[in-house]
Amino acid sequence: MRKSRILASLGLAAAAALALTACNSGTPGSTGDSSGAPMFEVASGVSITGSPTFDRISSSGTVRVGVKEDQPGLGYLDPTTGERTGFDVDIARWVAASLGVPADKIEFKSIPSANREQAIINGDIDYYVGTYSITDKRKAQISFAGPYFVTGQGLLVAASNGTITGKDSLTADVTVCSATGSTSIQRIKDETPAKTVEFDTYSQCVEALKSGQADAVTTDEAILIGYAAQAPNDLKVVGDVFSEERYGVGVAQGNNALVEHINTTFTDGGSTWQAIFDKNLGASGVKATKPAVDAVG
Ligand code: GLU
Repeated sequence: MRKSRILASLGLAAAAALALTACNSGTPGSTGDSSGAPMFEVASGVSITGSPTFDRISSSGTVRVGVKEDQPGLGYLDPTTGERTGFDVDIARWVAASLGVPADKIEFKSIPSANREQAIINGDIDYYVGTYSITDKRKAQISFAGPYFVTGQGLLVAASNGTITGKDSLTADVTVCSATGSTSIQRIKDETPAKTVEFDTYSQCVEALKSGQADAVTTDEAILIGYAAQAPNDLKVVGDVFSEERYGVGVAQGNNALVEHINTTFTDGGSTWQAIFDKNLGASGVKATKPAVDAVG
């Protein structure tokens, strides 16, 4: 709406120049949409007591964030421009802004599913935002803020595949690919007789599907929709989801005050959440509303 008003009042060429200027100048301390409007403000004078992770962030003025880099719509690194995009990436920027850290002081690190807990425990990152399901097993090692998003496990197959239509089709003669260390691969092993093949990343599974090494890729439907959108003639998402995946922000244990702060940011930030969703997933067909956060502890 804002954009069309600007276009109407300034004329197309002037508006295009304005948009370019706004993009290139990278308004300090804000992450904008294409019209240059800030998506969220960088907080000032933030104080959180009793969080070693926040102490490190505030004394350095920077934040190190673990993300995915091969999940379009969620966590993606453009190999040509070096730009990071996606719902999770913007959630990570929002959290940083709530801690007083502007977008240009975020150091993103791509970390695959299997290495997340260890990266957090080692202190290689301050927090992780990347399709990271809150589970009791993980909570034994790390803490989670959130959830900030809920999806469910699904299946991606070749567009020409007429036999795999849902979880019940995963019989002993079917090979399913998923990522090492994910809830997705574990569920297939626990709950179906299917053969499994696993890689560090889901994009490697998509390659395995395309080459015929796997019959299906399984992980969260929100991730699979992103791959299907890139190759709609070759790939399709089939069947109903068969789990509930609640995405959290992973932090080191002993940071309950930081978890409370992030939860409050999510709870109070309904319109910001919606703007981040609309920008990254709105056109994708992924359906979601902002979930309520868990109690801390
Ligand atoms: N959300 C699931 C998990 O945390 C699957 C996606 C992923 O591996 O990031 O394991």
